[in-house]
Amino acid sequence: MMNHTVKAVIIGAGPAGTSCAYMLQKSGVTCVLVDFATFPRQKVCGGGLTPKAYKLLEDIFPGIEYTYKSIGKIKLSIDHRSPKMIEVPEPIRLVNRKDFDNTLLQQYLQIGGQFIQDAFSRFTVAQDNTITVTLKSGKQLHCNYLVGADGANSRVRKQVVGNYHGNVLCLEQRIAERSDVIEGVISNEYKNGYYYLFPSIGCDIVGLGSANVTLQQFREVLDKLGIQETKINGANIPVEEVDSGMDNVILIGDAGGFPNKMTYEGLYYAFATGRNAAEAILTGKSFKETNKDILRRKRKERILTDLLYRPSSIRLLRYLTHCNSLMRKLFVAGLSK
Ligand SMILES: Cc1cc2nc3c(=O)[nH]c(=O)nc-3n(C[C@H](O)[C@H](O)[C@H](O)COP(=O)(O)OP(=O)(O)OC[C@H]3O[C@@H](n4cnc5c(N)ncnc54)[C@H](O)[C@@H]3O)c2cc1C
Repeated sequence: MMNHTVKAVIIGAGPAGTSCAYMLQKSGVTCVLVDFATFPRQKVCGGGLTPKAYKLLEDIFPGIEYTYKSIGKIKLSIDHRSPKMIEVPEPIRLVNRKDFDNTLLQQYLQIGGQFIQDAFSRFTVAQDNTITVTLKSGKQLHCNYLVGADGANSRVRKQVVGNYHGNVLCLEQRIAERSDVIEGVISNEYKNGYYYLFPSIGCDIVGLGSANVTLQQFREVLDKLGIQETKINGANIPVEEVDSGMDNVILIGDAGGFPNKMTYEGLYYAFATGRNAAEAILTGKSFKETNKDILRRKRKERILTDLLYRPSSIRLLRYLTHCNSLMRKLFVAGLSK
């Protein structure tokens, strides 16, 4: 199969890969999407879509229909003290990643997109810049662009830059439905992180993400919430972006280290970098150029992360939570823009 050269091979059919592949396919560009998983597949994730994320999703996949739970109230507590309820004008949507990711893949397949179930092994670049991608089955694909959208433990990224040190760990457990508000706790106990409770579809999800998270800390969170430990899942969130150094090898979504360093939001960045990679391939511009908006965001987030998670800032935040209108403005800025 496929001795001819396609324009792009995209490894990974998560939100980043399907966004990129869908945009290319819709523009009539030949591409192949590769994933080793059998879809629908599960992904450890809170499944929270911020307003800016679902608006961008609807720009990329116009008219898309998917199942979600809408939540407009966030209960925020600093250092576990007197939680404050913040009502946001545009709700957060909670999705089940298994169904959601499959919906995106089906959108791509419905417009005639090619999909191969196989694992990426390695790639080589010829003198004329054509890339040969070798899959685990031994199958080879020839392309002008290789897009690495293969998630937090990306093999494409590993081949390009070797070992990666920008991961934070996030631990999560699914629990019976018990809440109709999103709850979050920021504390000096968690380095650059927080714990959350998301009311999801058919279950709630409690999670803890931080730069120094431990199983013991997560067990203490479960204890504080009166939740019995059942099955704890963990996954990396890569928060330091990586540049492949090659114009025709593009790393997007988690593979590119794009999730927000302060909030760990990753879905908006997966859609945005998927879209920006497609734009680079369609226009011949560099990804650095088409992805400028996200790189600017990442620079701002680095500064904000350093500021927010200082002990003195967390103390200050404790007082600011009493100021409803200010907190509402901060949340609207973070979630919608
Ligand atoms: C515990 C936790 C909670 C989170 N909660 C949220 C949240 O509430 N909101 C939010 O916005 N973000 C959240 N995130 C982040 C979010 O899950 C990710 O940023 C998002 O999934 C990134 O999408 P992606 O397409 O880049 O990667 P993925 O969704 O991981 O998709 C990568 C795909 O690549 C495939 N793949 C991997 N290796 C290979 C290979 N060698 N060959 C072929 N295929 C391969 C995988 O099967 C997978 O389908 C959370 C993350 C964690 C860990």
